[in-house]
Parts: sequence; structure tokens; C-alpha cells
Amino acid sequence: MNQPSVIKSAEKNARQKSQLDDQFDNNWLAQTRKDIAADLIGVLAVDENSHPDLLYGVKAFLPSARACVVLGMEYASETMNLIKHPAKYSGAVKTGDLLAPHVNQLTIEIDQANSKLVKILRELGYRSLALPSRGLPLRPGEIKASLSFAHVAEAAGMGTIGTHSLLITPEFGTRTRLACLLTEAPLKTTRRMDPVDDCTHCLDCVKICPVGAISSPVPGARYQVDAMRCKFYREKVDNCGLCQKICSYATGHSETTDGPVIATDAFQQSLADYVRLDTSGWEE
Ligand code: SF4
Ligand code: SF4
Repeated sequence: MNQPSVIKSAEKNARQKSQLDDQFDNNWLAQTRKDIAADLIGVLAVDENSHPDLLYGVKAFLPSARACVVLGMEYASETMNLIKHPAKYSGAVKTGDLLAPHVNQLTIEIDQANSKLVKILRELGYRSLALPSRGLPLRPGEIKASLSFAHVAEAAGMGTIGTHSLLITPEFGTRTRLACLLTEAPLKTTRRMDPVDDCTHCLDCVKICPVGAISSPVPGARYQVDAMRCKFYREKVDNCGLCQKICSYATGHSETTDGPVIATDAFQQSLADYVRLDTSGWEE
């Protein structure tokens, strides 16, 4: 049987916890975003009705999590403007090589912001786990992330997933790097007052992919991407980023300094054909 003093202490703890739980409103979230120096923040609460993909990630990493927080950091448009189709680099400086170091730096910054937020939540007494911006384990036997940050971000009202399967945010378009954390803190799902579908379905990303990794989605599907083809190309041939860049133009989220990239079907090449590219049909 519980002693009266033990009951009082439990009641006090529950009261303190409940006061803490109440503080997680939008003001707290907005201030916290500034404190940890993230460009964007969104939340998706976890419950039994959550999307199976989210529940999969939660079960894998922190089964007691009550919310998933997504952080976003802006890619510089100046760097993205320097990405060009590989054929344009013949005899010219390969300016797109600046993308990799830029992404590395953003990865460090967003992971630091994520760690800061985890620290804040843990100091408040909530178990929390930062998931890295890069290098999240894949599902066994699949080329599929154990948790798709883009899908969580979309459900948290941070943007729309486009035909290239990337998140397009109203603030930065595809120039948005993401990281997530799982926490036992009872944060509520964020919603946009003015949700917009930023994908214009122009199919420019489909047309520009040098290896045909993006297909025009079949009816009922939102995107169709051959992840293996894209991964292979990016790792073995080029850093790429062409679908991100062209979408930035298509959705008005980036200016251009090197002339617009015009997507044409002539850009599409099979991976096997890549080494035999005929550039004669390409447009500036
Ligand atoms: S390039 Fe066009 S179709 Fe592709 S994701 Fe962007 S807006 Fe959508
Ligand atoms: S990053 Fe390049 S290879 Fe990958 S889908 Fe986009 S355009 Fe295609």
C-alpha cells in the first residue's frame, strides 16, 4: 500500500509534468526554432492512427515517442545555380562540385540544431533521440529509409512532395535539407493556415534527369522514382541535383545566374548509354 508522502510526491510530479506538457504551444516552437538556429520546424504527433511509415520508424528507434519533430535548413540558391548538366562542363570549371561541400556543411548545421533540441527536451525530462540528416539505416532488404523525413515533413504541413519525390517548401522550394528527432514530449502536429501544392506538375524534373530515374507518375501515384538508378548515378558519375535545381526555377524558388535550364526529352539517357552521350540535341 502506498504511503501518503509517496502519493503526494507522485501527484506533484504529475502536476509538474502536466504544466510542462502545456508549454509546448506554437510560441514555444517558434522561439525554440530561433534558439537552435534552424530555418524551419514542424511537428507530427504520433498515435495509433499515424501513417504506417512513421510508426515503422518510431518502433525502430524510440517506441515510446509521442512526436516527431522535423527541422529544415535552406540550401543556398547561389550554390544550386552552379549545378549544370554534365555535358556543359566539357572544358569548363565543374562548378557543380561546390554542391557536395555545401551539403556537408548544411548537414553539420542541421544535425547540431537537432542535437540542441534533443538536449532541451531531455533536460525537461523527455526521452528524445536525434535522427541524423544523413545516414539513417535503410529497411532490411530495401532501398528505403527507415523513416522518410520528407513524408513526415509533408504531414507536419511543411510543404508538398513533388513528382521528383522531394519536399517542396513554400519558403525554399526544393532547397530544403531535413533532419528529424523523436521525443516523448507531447508536441502537437503543426498545420499550415494556407496549405499549397507547390508542385506544378510541369514534369521538368522528369525530362531533365540524365539517367531517366524519374518517371511521369501513373494515374493515382504522386511520383515514381528509381532510387537505385539515381543513387548509382550520384555516387559513381556526378553529384547531380538537376531535378532540385530545375524545380527551383519551375516553382519560383530560385533565381538563375547561368541562364535557365531547359528540360528536354533529349536529356534522358539510360545509365548504360551515359558514356556515349550525344549532346547535339541539347538546349542551353
Ligand atoms: S519540376 Fe515540376 S513536376 Fe517536377 S516536382 Fe517540380 S514542379 Fe513538380
Ligand atoms: S538527382 Fe539527378 S539522377 Fe537523381 S533523380 Fe535527380 S536528376 Fe535524376
